[in-house]
Amino acid sequence: MRILVLGGAGYIGSHTVYELIDEGYEVVIVDNLQTGFRKAVHPEAVFYEGDIRNRKFMDSVFEKEHIDGVIHFAASSQVGESMRDPLKYYSNNLCGTEVLLESMVAHHVDKIVFSSTAATYGEPENIPIVETDRTLPTNCYGETKLSMEKMFHWTSLAHPLRFVSLRYFNACGAHPNGKIGEAHNPETHLIPLILQVPNNQREYISIFGNDYDTKDGTCVRDYIHVNDLAQAHILAMKYLCDGGESSIFNLGNGVGFTVKEVVEAARRVTKHPIPAKEEERRAGDPSTLIASSEKAKRVLGWKPQYAELETIIDTAWKWHKAHPDGYQAE
Ligand code: UDP
Repeated sequence: MRILVLGGAGYIGSHTVYELIDEGYEVVIVDNLQTGFRKAVHPEAVFYEGDIRNRKFMDSVFEKEHIDGVIHFAASSQVGESMRDPLKYYSNNLCGTEVLLESMVAHHVDKIVFSSTAATYGEPENIPIVETDRTLPTNCYGETKLSMEKMFHWTSLAHPLRFVSLRYFNACGAHPNGKIGEAHNPETHLIPLILQVPNNQREYISIFGNDYDTKDGTCVRDYIHVNDLAQAHILAMKYLCDGGESSIFNLGNGVGFTVKEVVEAARRVTKHPIPAKEEERRAGDPSTLIASSEKAKRVLGWKPQYAELETIIDTAWKWHKAHPDGYQAE
């Protein structure tokens, strides 16, 4: 079975490609390398450098390769940037998906698994969050992901297309094989930023906000290992191949940690004091996001393997220690 992975040179995309190839799938990758890295491309995957907004290019890929299903990670994903440059997000995320769907429909490719986000919910009404809860994004990134879900929905009513949308909570960690890991430029995520301190790349970690309504005043998030996310994509593709209906699933561990607890866990893992400074809140941050992933467990048979935060941080630490500049210096 041949899977087209869009954005397969990015963080979650590259981990999913490694898992797919380990399980015997043939993989074709499309990535424009705007935020992905050639070094993250699995050596056994067929790789096309190009942009999903280019219809001719996408048509040529579907014509050359016999594609059974698509896994779609090719999107911009930084909350702060999406507020400064919303049109970039509309162009890359929405226009890109529109062109992709036109090309898929024209080439009769009828299955797609799509990376969505907890940012589609905005400030939650209930904790843990279930898939039927209100979606009211508080940033442009979440808004475009929600619109992408709706684009899949309406297209699936008009054409023979089925989709699974996976709403991730906080993706983190690195592949235990040590070959791939998290690398963003600029880095904005908590765990890689914390680990820059013991890696001598940063003097302290900033804690954004200490007056949230949580047990220690700092934001609570649900941290989920990237390999567990990768497995969920494979299960979602199997579900579609078995005739499953279009659906949306949350993916998280169902356990929340405060920013201070994450810093503490990183101190234990790295045995470094990791100084922290409490600063102003970051705009647009909801205070608590915790997933209910019961639906993914029940319907897809998903079983996350990395439940312990320290184990997750340990995989990240091994990657960052060995690759302090990500893929850049290699
Ligand atoms: N955060 C922080 N300091 C940092 C980066 C992030 O305190 O240098 C906080 C952020 O405010 C949020 C949590 O850590 O509450 C997780 O942020 P991240 O950007 O990793 O993921 P998000 O939850 O925004 O998707």
